[in-house]
Amino acid sequence: MTEPSATARSPQSSPAPSYTTAVTVDDFRRNLAAIRARIDAAAERAGRDTAEIRLLPVSKTVPEERLRTAFAAGITQMGENKVQEAQRKSENLADLGISWSVIGHLQTNKAKNVAAFADEFQALDSLRLAEALDRRLQAAGRSLDVYVQVNSSGEPSKFGLEPDDVAAFLAALPAYSSLRVRGLMTLAAHTDDAARVRECFRIMRRLRDAALQAGTIGDGLLSMGMSGDFEAAIEGGSTCVRVGQAIFGARATPDSHYWPESSQAK
Ligand SMILES: *Cc1c(COP(=O)(O)O)cnc(C)c1O
Repeated sequence: MTEPSATARSPQSSPAPSYTTAVTVDDFRRNLAAIRARIDAAAERAGRDTAEIRLLPVSKTVPEERLRTAFAAGITQMGENKVQEAQRKSENLADLGISWSVIGHLQTNKAKNVAAFADEFQALDSLRLAEALDRRLQAAGRSLDVYVQVNSSGEPSKFGLEPDDVAAFLAALPAYSSLRVRGLMTLAAHTDDAARVRECFRIMRRLRDAALQAGTIGDGLLSMGMSGDFEAAIEGGSTCVRVGQAIFGARATPDSHYWPESSQAK
């Protein structure tokens, strides 16, 4: 694949996109269709089959009433960063049968919550947590799809394993038999420097390819790309884009609430 020019766009050249809030079923259908079209176009540019790219709508901060509308528009899986919020929504919307994906850092003492309701956990980043999850899952007679989170940007307080630690970590996971390892997850650098963002995706793909060689990563899926960078992520090999604001609308809660460093990362 040809690499884009290494010249960074200046931050001023790309004003923050404005995301309009989806309220009606039609709003959601329109936003979904627009995102899916952009996914298709990015896959086409990269010479990839668009069918292998999953769109995971990220519903954090969106109230339950609007999630019912989103569901009516065809959104049946939802990603949430915080486990308490996710669990509350899963209970109050239990009649819908939504598939819940927890995509944010988890403290070990919350493992039992995730084991109780989540269909997927994308932010596995320590063996202590793997152990705690496995114990709770065994007790519940469940298993869980997991992605290992990697800090691909080198930003100091981003969650996730250092790239150098990924191979040994993956090799240790078969000990936790209720965890089904599906792939790797990352948040790329929070910056308008397109070359830096693409370098994060490149690191992830290299780690994934090495793990496929080693046979430690199941299907070798790659969860990367958000509202601001999902097209570059697809060109970089993503098989799961996690898109919140471009579907639901702008969030009032600053991103620093979810990844504390982003406010300083520019
Ligand atoms: C919020 C969040 C996203 C989606 O971000 P948007 O800017 O709303 O697309 C993706 N991944 C994680 C881990 C998140 O917390």
